Amino acid sequence: MIQSLLIANRGEIACRVIRTARQMGIRTVAVYSDADADALHVREADEAVHIGPSPARESYLVGEKILAAARETGAEAIHPGYGFLSENAAFAQAVKDAGLVWVGPNPSSITAMGLKDAAKTLMAEAGVPVTPGYMGANQEPALLAEEAAKIGYPVLIKAVAGGGGKGMRLVEAPEAFIDALASCKREAASSFGNDHVLIEKYIASPRHIEVQVFGDSHGNVVHLFERDCSLQRRHQKVIEEAPAPGMDAATREALCAAAVRAAKAVDYVGAGTIEFIADGSGPLSADRIWFMEMNTRLQVEHPVTEEITGVDLVEWQLLVASGKPLPKSQEDLTIDGWAMEARLYAEDPAKGFLPSIGKLELLEFGEAAEDDFGRGRIDTGVYEGAEVSPFYDPMIAKVIAWGEDRDEARERLGEMLEDTAVWPVRTNASFLVKALQHPDFAAGKVDTGLIGRDGEAMAEAPMPSDEVLEAAANSLVPFSPLAGFRLNAAPARAAWFSLDGEKVEIALTGEGSEEPDEAVLVTEQGQAWLLTPWRRDGVHGGADASGAILAPMPGKVIAVDVTQGQAVTKGQKLLTLEAMKMEHTLTAPFDGVVAELAAVAGAQVQVEALLARIEEAGE
Ligand code: ADP
Repeated sequence: MIQSLLIANRGEIACRVIRTARQMGIRTVAVYSDADADALHVREADEAVHIGPSPARESYLVGEKILAAARETGAEAIHPGYGFLSENAAFAQAVKDAGLVWVGPNPSSITAMGLKDAAKTLMAEAGVPVTPGYMGANQEPALLAEEAAKIGYPVLIKAVAGGGGKGMRLVEAPEAFIDALASCKREAASSFGNDHVLIEKYIASPRHIEVQVFGDSHGNVVHLFERDCSLQRRHQKVIEEAPAPGMDAATREALCAAAVRAAKAVDYVGAGTIEFIADGSGPLSADRIWFMEMNTRLQVEHPVTEEITGVDLVEWQLLVASGKPLPKSQEDLTIDGWAMEARLYAEDPAKGFLPSIGKLELLEFGEAAEDDFGRGRIDTGVYEGAEVSPFYDPMIAKVIAWGEDRDEARERLGEMLEDTAVWPVRTNASFLVKALQHPDFAAGKVDTGLIGRDGEAMAEAPMPSDEVLEAAANSLVPFSPLAGFRLNAAPARAAWFSLDGEKVEIALTGEGSEEPDEAVLVTEQGQAWLLTPWRRDGVHGGADASGAILAPMPGKVIAVDVTQGQAVTKGQKLLTLEAMKMEHTLTAPFDGVVAELAAVAGAQVQVEALLARIEEAGE
């Protein structure tokens, strides 16, 4: 057995690998960039090696730095996680050449599956059904157009080297083909350094169904059933589950057997995933499911398979990499219940899913996550107080629920997401909750276009309920008679508050509080908001008597109107902050000079961050 392992990755997957390695008594080595010096994976590993600046191409993607870190710490094996170098055959080979164990398939298997056209050709030869289409070497536009016509519109043009949903064009009719081809080739050349494309029949109402496979170095290959990852946003997975809704035993048998054939065709060793596309316009059937591609690594969504099979896939990876046979045969593997995973992201659905960067001042996962029966699971790479940095994928956690059946798993996942509270970073929690409640999703009728059609309502900014707001407001106002607050109309007993910077009117239903708080965090629907009494010139923060100009809420500085040392008069505009889709102007509290100017246009700022400081003239 290997005794020590370097994890060439970061975030939740590095933490996930460390957890199992530790249980197996394997010493773990983390690597980290500048931005990750305080990251969770660094804290959890036995040792950690700094490998360079924050941009991944100067750290996590530099093979030589990873190998040097392994040498320095005496690590015997390297686990690549997913993303970064995990599907880089040259790196896998370099690891082997350095005399280290590569926790992954042979480099030749990675290469064979690396390009979509070559992989499809290979699979067709191995008797695996592939999506009808053209995957030839001849790239003449006229010939490609002819092939597209033969396949029949609509067609999909795909960059053979594409990935992550990039380098694809849907073409509905022949007139649009040549332009779409040119644009796809341009994107492919600049993103992947390879402009070759293939043409595929566009499957109507497509469902994304994939099969987990596992091989060992003794020639055994098994499958661990399917996952359904059809709930996607712009070809990116949002919610994944296992098994697939509506999958009958015969179809499963045929699909999983095809996946095992695919893995065997490339002498596959380790954890891999065969992705298929299914025609979702009717019930699933084996003759309407086609091979799409193989991912030669552990997948983000591997936990749902673990939850229904009871197998620790990372443990299997480490056993197989150590030369051991697979711990279970196909007959020993069974499906127990249902599992569903949601990807919780630091992003703002109401603002076009823009990443929401910053410090996680509040990060709570709620009670369901600590379920004693193992029905709730959180895989995360951050902790309360950690930073979501702009350098990497802004995933906060994978939230995973298990249930006896699909509805139980789905409902539990919804509860877990609603119990999550994150602030001031925005998350997609309420978007995910609404997706789980969508009638088609609830009925198991999901195709990859569902969010594209109905996603707008899911993305709307959530607002806390009246009851929750009223209770919070009660703790902010003094015990009646509500002195000091401007009531809108005397008998209505309501007052103005600021909810993350937005002016809101809240009915005062309680008696107020003997010792009012200055601010309360209101949490609901997986979201958190800062509630403060409303003040006209800035809310929480704003300008205080010392002349410090603080950010009243998390947001982005969109304009700075003054320079350091400049004289300003009371009420003069200093800078503009954009937050919660609104622009907020911050002005000078009194006549003076700009003694300090910390705000930079374009920068994201946290609540109460010092933006500027005004000193009274002559001070
Ligand atoms: P990538 O490597 O970029 O992930 P894939 O080939 O795996 O690209 O396809 C990504 C997604 O695009 C699939 O999950 C599916 O939603 C959609 N897709 C791919 N091929 C087709 C097709 N022939 N017809 C319809 N949708 C497709």
